[in-house]
Order: sequence, then C-alpha cells, then structure tokens
Amino acid sequence: MSERPGAGPAQPDVPSGGSAGAKLAALREQAAGCHACPLYAHASQTVFGEGPPSASVVMLGEQPGDMEDRQGHPFVGPAGRVLDRALEAAGIERDDVYVSNVVKHFKWERAGKVRLHKKPNAGEIRACRPWWEAELAVVRPRVVCCLGATAAQAVFGPKFRVTRDRGVFFDLPGPDLFGSARPPAGTEAIATIHPSAVLRAPSETRDEVFDGLVADLETVAERLRRG
Ligand code: SF4
Repeated sequence: MSERPGAGPAQPDVPSGGSAGAKLAALREQAAGCHACPLYAHASQTVFGEGPPSASVVMLGEQPGDMEDRQGHPFVGPAGRVLDRALEAAGIERDDVYVSNVVKHFKWERAGKVRLHKKPNAGEIRACRPWWEAELAVVRPRVVCCLGATAAQAVFGPKFRVTRDRGVFFDLPGPDLFGSARPPAGTEAIATIHPSAVLRAPSETRDEVFDGLVADLETVAERLRRG
C-alpha cells in the first residue's frame, strides 16, 4: 500500500486465503492507513464499506459525509436514513446490502462552523478505486448499485449520465476492472440518484424524487428475485 500522498493509486493486498469476512477485515485495516491521495490529511478517518460479506447487493456512493467521517461508518447520516427508507420501500432486505463509497475519506471545505461536502476530483477517485474494486472482488455481489453521478462515472466511465441511464442494468465494464479477482460472470450494475438528492430537492418535489429512487431500487429487487 502506498504511503506517499499522491503516489497512488492505492494498492490493496487481498489475502489469498480465509473467509470473505476475514478478507474484508484485512482490507479495512489496510485502508485505515491509506495515504494514496491527499484526502486522508483533512478527514478524521477512513470510512470503509460495511455489510455482510456475502451480500447480494453492493451500494456504492460517492464519499462519506460529515457524520460518517465522525463516526467511521458509511451511510449513517441523513442520506443513509433516506437510503434505508428507500430500501425498505423497494423490498430489499437491509441486511443483504453492503454499503460503501468510491472515495473513502471525507472531502470538505469550511463554511463558518460547518464542514461542507466537496466533490472529489478525478485523481482522488482514481487513487481510491482499488479499494472498492477489492471490496467487490471479495463480496462478489449479484448487483452493484451506483448511487449518484460520481459513483456511476467511476464504474461506467465519464460518459455515463445518471439522468439518462438510471434504472437500467449493464454488465460491469472490464476486462481490466478487478484484474484476476473479478466478480463472477453475471454481476450486473445499475445506477440511480444519490439519496442526498432527495434531501436537496425542493419540498414540493421531494416525494417524487424519493419515489424515483424507490422505483430504481425496485428494479434491483426484481433482479434479485429472478436470481
Ligand atoms: S480517499 Fe482513498 S485513496 Fe485517498 S487516502 Fe483515502 S483511502 Fe486512500
């Protein structure tokens, strides 16, 4: 693993043996010391993915928010609560979902007393990519669901548009993605909005935006039911 800021990308060492849980624990420990891009320097801690090692679905967001940064767990803030509500409404068991982000440190700028989210740049997203690739390679989910444009473009490439391409299944791009530890053939990926978009929506359209998120997740639920 690279220790020199900006010397990335990160270089996870996925253990060759042991259970998926043990492999994730090893990756989490490695990521805690990652300095592959400058973001570690201004965040409280690495926020690695969490969930069952054999989850059917991996939800990939952009990066931890303020509360996730403080608590060290993904999707525990307001957007996480929206995601939980949407998963329940769509009929997806929360304990069949592994949640993570394509960037593992909180990037922010100060506005008075508040730390405001700042979008990670292409170099930071590229540096962090090996971590989520390693997570997918270990969890081997049936479905990868990208939440928002940053995650969707990290997975599908910069031409992907969530507004145009959401709610539709695609094969995971390859062949270089995942190297030899690729998830099984048949793993599919889909994108929808980030749950924070529901929180940002004007009150008069918020229910509609939430319903759109649920509709996309219902597509995921349907795919899981079909196996
Ligand atoms: S954001 Fe990712 S690549 Fe950058 S230091 Fe954190 S874990 Fe490493």
